[in-house]
Amino acid sequence: MPTKKQYAIIGMGRFGSSVAQSLSKMGFEVLAIDSSEQKIQEIVNMVTHAVSADSTDEEALKALGIRNFDVVVVAIGQDIQASILTTLILKDLGVPKIVVKAQNELHGKVLSKIGADKVVFPERDMGTRVAHNLISPNILDHIELSDDHSIVEMRVASFMIGKNLKELDIRARYGCNVMAIKNNGKMNISPYAEDRLKDGDILVLVGENEHLQKMELAYSES
Ligand code: ATP
Repeated sequence: MPTKKQYAIIGMGRFGSSVAQSLSKMGFEVLAIDSSEQKIQEIVNMVTHAVSADSTDEEALKALGIRNFDVVVVAIGQDIQASILTTLILKDLGVPKIVVKAQNELHGKVLSKIGADKVVFPERDMGTRVAHNLISPNILDHIELSDDHSIVEMRVASFMIGKNLKELDIRARYGCNVMAIKNNGKMNISPYAEDRLKDGDILVLVGENEHLQKMELAYSES
């Protein structure tokens, strides 16, 4: 059996500590790092190891054996310089996968240029999700795949119940594809045209933002 991945999270703000606790709850080994002793005290009982260190100090990161971790998440927000320096050091030390939280688009661009494997924008992404949910309460989730494409989860509207996908003809009417139908935690992946929708079903749609938006608006009026 492959050994479980080991994660190190740098920066125990709201985002970093949430990532650290979630991974820990899922049973992974997590090293939490923060320059603040107080933040370390707050997280110490919830992760495998918690260490107070300045991540812009290369020797300190080396001493922690940071390059042996499979994934390192840099969750330093406000001190952009520290976030960039930390990412550079991790890259130099040969960490296999570096995920970094960006404060804004420019910060994100710099992080990608210096070799961050994944750049995340939690505030921006959550703002987008909340906005979509405000337009239509039927929209449960919204994930941007690129500037032009997204995945959207939406509750079936009452007029759809009892109809099959062929009758609804979502692809022709709205230009988006039904990837899956969820119900009570069960997933029907790549549903058939004859599959009928039930009350409580959730459609997982993929498509161009423009098409998805048309469908979201149609939903909000239904
Ligand atoms: P949140 O996730 O709460 O929105 P934030 O984006 O506002 O956080 P900060 O509060 O600026 O981010 O930083 C997150 C954490 O990173 C803080 O607890 C801070 O002590 C820690 N931190 C900042 N610089 C360093 C560093 N050089 N080394 C280690 N930890 C650091």
